[in-house]
Amino acid sequence: MKELVSDLRERFAESGIEDLLRHFLNEYGHRIALASSLGAEDQVLTDMVLKIKPDARIFVLDTGRLPQETYATLTATRKHYGRNIEVYFPDTAAVEKMESDMGPDFFYESVANRLYCCQVRKVQPLKRVLGTLDVWITGLRREQAPTRTGLQRIEWDETNGLLKLNPLIDWSTQQVWNYIREHQVPYNPLHDRNYPSIGCAPCTRPVAPGEDLRSGRWWWEKPEHKECGLHYHNGKLLRRKAYEPTGETGESKHLHPA
Ligand code: SF4
Repeated sequence: MKELVSDLRERFAESGIEDLLRHFLNEYGHRIALASSLGAEDQVLTDMVLKIKPDARIFVLDTGRLPQETYATLTATRKHYGRNIEVYFPDTAAVEKMESDMGPDFFYESVANRLYCCQVRKVQPLKRVLGTLDVWITGLRREQAPTRTGLQRIEWDETNGLLKLNPLIDWSTQQVWNYIREHQVPYNPLHDRNYPSIGCAPCTRPVAPGEDLRSGRWWWEKPEHKECGLHYHNGKLLRRKAYEPTGETGESKHLHPA
C-alpha cells in the first residue's frame, strides 16, 4: 500500500482539488464517500463533490446528541442540493446499555468515559460505513491542530484499511470561508456564534478570541486528550502533544474571517 500511496501522491502532486476529486470519484464510484460533520470544511467539499458527481455518496454520523443547528444544516443542505444524505446511527442496544449503566452525561466524569461514549456513538458507526468503502474523503486541514501538520492529501488509513483523501489539507480558514461565500454554500449557523469546531451539543462550546480552534471541544479535558478516535494517523490516535496556540496554527482569530 505504501507504493500505491506514494504513486498516487506523485501523480497528483501538481493537480488541483477538482482534478483530484474527479479522478477518485469516477474511479471508485460508490466505494468512495465524503464523511461530513456538516462543519464548514465538509460543506465546501459537499459543494465540490456534488458539482463533479451529483450522485456521490456523502454520509453523516448522527450521534443522537448533535446540536439542533447541525440538524438544521443537514436539512438546508438536502434542500440546497436536492438530494438525500446518508445518516448513520450508533447501535441501539449499545447506547441503551451505556446510558442505562452510566446515565446520560457520564462522559464528563473521566477521559475513559468520554472515549467510551465517542467509541459507541461515533467510531463504531464510522467503521460500519467505512466497511462499504475503498476511499473516504475528509475535511481535515493542517491548520486545525499541531498534530495534523504531518498529514498529506492522500493517506493510507492503516486502522481502517482504506485510502483517505484530505483535499483541503493545505487550505487556510480564510480560503474555506471565501469558498462558502463565493459559492453560497449553506453552513452551520453556530459558526457565526464563535463555534469554529462543532461536535455533539454537550461537548462543544464557543471559543473566546485568541483561543485555539478546537478549544471548545471537550473543554473540561486536558488538550492532549482532545480527539475522539475518528481520525487515526498510521494506526495511532491523533493526539495533541502540546497546548500552545500559535499565530499560524489554529488561533480563533481565523475562525470566521470577515
Ligand atoms: S462528543 Fe460527547 S456526546 Fe458525542 S459521542 Fe463523544 S462524548 Fe459522547
